[in-house]
This record gives sequence, structure tokens and C-alpha cells, in this order.
Amino acid sequence: MKEHFVGMLLGTMVGDAIGLPVEGWDCVRMAEQLDRFPLLPRGEQELATAVLGLITGGKVAAGEARYSDDTQMAIGVAQILVEEGEIVPETLAQRFATNFQPWRGYGPGAYGVLDALKQGRPWDEPARQVFGGRGSYGNGAAMRVAPIGAFFWDSEVATIREQARLSSLPTHTHPHGIEGAVVIALAVAGVLRQVAEGADELDVAQLLGFIRSGTHDEIFLKKLAEVEGFLAAEPEPCVVAARLGTDLTATLSVPAALFAFLSRWDSLPDCILYAVRLGGDADTIAAMAGALAGAFHRSAAIPENWLAALENGPQGRDFVRTLAEGLYERWEAAPPRRLEVVGAE
Ligand SMILES: [Mg+2]
Repeated sequence: MKEHFVGMLLGTMVGDAIGLPVEGWDCVRMAEQLDRFPLLPRGEQELATAVLGLITGGKVAAGEARYSDDTQMAIGVAQILVEEGEIVPETLAQRFATNFQPWRGYGPGAYGVLDALKQGRPWDEPARQVFGGRGSYGNGAAMRVAPIGAFFWDSEVATIREQARLSSLPTHTHPHGIEGAVVIALAVAGVLRQVAEGADELDVAQLLGFIRSGTHDEIFLKKLAEVEGFLAAEPEPCVVAARLGTDLTATLSVPAALFAFLSRWDSLPDCILYAVRLGGDADTIAAMAGALAGAFHRSAAIPENWLAALENGPQGRDFVRTLAEGLYERWEAAPPRRLEVVGAE
């Protein structure tokens, strides 16, 4: 299970770093670029090299692939879980502010909120005031929530929901921003539940059912039904992108990440590259899909040259691995409240 935790966090990082150079490209432009390079048979490292080289201008050397706000904030979430054993929004807000590196590509809403937090504003004020007081409904809470899904994988659904909600509050208070985080947290937890049962093939229907069982928002439930329909009769990637959405709102990016994983769960590189191929908010969609694939397959499924390309300075690749191991060790030493065992004495 420890290596599944590591896969979750390194999967986030590698998806983020691979999607970042092409963030904002639309699906059609992405297809034109990617199709110039023939995709090699699955499993061949050349595929990884070709695509990573392509999307980074062919100049990526060891340690040069940078991650963005997605990974940086997921690090903050994992740190708080290691330290506190649960999400304390005020402490999490402080950690986001401490970790904040403005050049990591934060969205305009989050940038303003974190800047205000850094200047010492009360933790629960700035997030409520953005976007005319509606709060952000972006995907910023969903993109960083995977450590919660891992840490609470065998907790009750209500606990997973609540922890995801609490982790959203420092930056995302709109119900859609929160529910996006809930959906991804449930997805990660559902994957690890299958892992714990010894599954070597993902039960897609069961995972979808589990996510649905904890999802309360009508729009997300509608999107989950759409995802399920696409799994049965898969349209072209750009049709998927247009229908599910690939922008920076939670309702129009979380479903695309889920589809990338559910349709390509058997190969982590395929899953991440497909998520990138959908275009739009590619780093975030690939970070979410990468977290799920990494949680299922463990970090060993990440191609070695992808890992080698990742930046490895302070809070880089090695730090992220150690942090994820620490998250597992904290879970093992002082696990959060477990599932009630039906029929136990
Ligand atoms: Mg980003």
C-alpha cells in the first residue's frame, strides 16, 4: 500500500509536469502535434521519450520538467495530513501561504487568495470574497485532493466528503469547487479499496458506483452518467473533450480526468497521455488522472525517463516520494477512523 500512496503523489506530479508545457492548447491543436509523431506500441519507453520530448520542445534534460500549482498544493495537503492526521483548514491555509511560489502558474483567483493569506488575512475570508462573493468553482481543490483520498481510503464516505470539503475551504468555497474535490477524493479512495482487495484489474463499474454513492451534486451526477456512456461507445478524443469539458472549472475538468483513467486504467502512461491529449487545462486534468493511475499501479508504473525528467530540487521528486511514504506511515501508525465492519461483534 505504501507504494500505492507514492504512486498517487508522484502520479500527480508527473501528470502535472507533462501537461504543463501544453496547458491551454485546445484538443485539435494537440492532436495535430501529437499525430506528427507515430505512437509506438504500448510499453515501449520510446513512446514516453518521444511525447515528453515533443511537448517540452525536445529539450528536456534530467530534472528540468517543472511542476505547477497542482503539485505544490497537493504537497501542502499531504504535509498537513502527516502533521495533523486530518485536515485543519486554518493550518492548511497557512501551509498553502508558506509554500506559495507565485511563478508556479496559479490561477488568478487562487493567486489573489494566497497573496492575501500570505499577508496575514484571516484564513476563511479571501476565498469567500473572490468572484463577486460566489467563491471559486474552479478545479483547484480537486487538483490537490488526492492525498485525502489515499489517507482516508478506508474511512466512511461521509468522512472522505467532509475532509475533502475542509481542504477546499481555504481557496474554493463554491459548491461546485468543493464537490469536484469530493469526487476525486472518492475516486482515489475507491481505487485503493480495490487495491486492498487484491484487484489486479480495475472494476470500472464498481468504482463508478462508489463515486456516485458519495456524490451529491446534480451536475456531477449527470457528468458521471455521461462518462459512463462514453466508456461504452468511445468517441474521438476531441468529441470527449468538447462534451465533458476541459477548462479550469471543476464541473468541466474533473469528469474528463475520470474518463481518462476509467478508459485507460490499465496503463499509467496511456492514461496520462490521453488526459493531456484532451487539451485545455492539461496539467490539471493529467495531474488528477495521474493520481488515480499512480494509486492503482504504484510508482513503478511511471516510466523511468519521466521520473528522471522531473525537477528534483527542494520539494522536488525525491521530496515528494518521501512525503508520500510519510503519509502512508502516518496512516499506518495512527489510522483515521476505519469503516464500520458490518456484523462485527
Ligand atoms: Mg497547474
